[in-house]
Amino acid sequence: MESDALDTALDLLRRSLHTIALTGAGMSTHSGIPDFRSPESGLWEKVNPGEVASIYGFRHQPERFYDWIRPLAHTILDARPNAAHFALARLEAAGKLKAIITQNIDMLHTRAGSRPVYELHGHLRQVTCIHCFEMFPAKPYIVQFLESNIVPKCPQCGHVLKPNAILFGEQLPAQALIAARREARQCDLMIVAGSSLEVYPAADLPVIAHRSGASLVFVNLYPTPFDSLAQVVIHDDVADILPQLATALESGQHP
Ligand code: ZN
Repeated sequence: MESDALDTALDLLRRSLHTIALTGAGMSTHSGIPDFRSPESGLWEKVNPGEVASIYGFRHQPERFYDWIRPLAHTILDARPNAAHFALARLEAAGKLKAIITQNIDMLHTRAGSRPVYELHGHLRQVTCIHCFEMFPAKPYIVQFLESNIVPKCPQCGHVLKPNAILFGEQLPAQALIAARREARQCDLMIVAGSSLEVYPAADLPVIAHRSGASLVFVNLYPTPFDSLAQVVIHDDVADILPQLATALESGQHP
């Protein structure tokens, strides 16, 4: 059954002229990164997400936010791309994959060499001052925070610096969202990998692609609300399936 599904996915990939990928938290599981929006991440046990990880909570109690994000920031700083990220980079190198849209803030697609990557929920590459809106590279501030526990402050005006990850209650980055919707309309194949499609607007993108005539291939451990739209649905590990697809495409053989 699964071999049939892989064959069909490979066939769609071979015939595609414009493949894109939409990725979610499942991509980074093997890199040790929990889905920070998911109750199963363990990050919500002692706090109310709507409070501590919201822009309102951040503005009122940045210390609480930074305390909460400490383990995640530490993990992301040390994280490396896994076989699933590299497989998508290989599909790009093979001339197939034209863009990645991701819900992840961990920057692992860019670290794996993929371009362009549209980060719908922002990233931890930069921090922004909540007062003067100046942006700075995040790493030195995060490292300093992890070492000293001092909340990062703007070197220009002294107000708190916020990571460029999108918090609850914040607008999504308009440019990334516009580009993502354009890609969804233009692609002829969308691979949805490691996303349960439970969060909007990411969940809308396969629907847009489908309405525009694209084929859909879903690779996710769990069913999504949109499985019935897809030509291929594989409920399995992205770090297992995506490398198989990349290898088969590269070798010109069946998986
Ligand atoms: Zn400032």
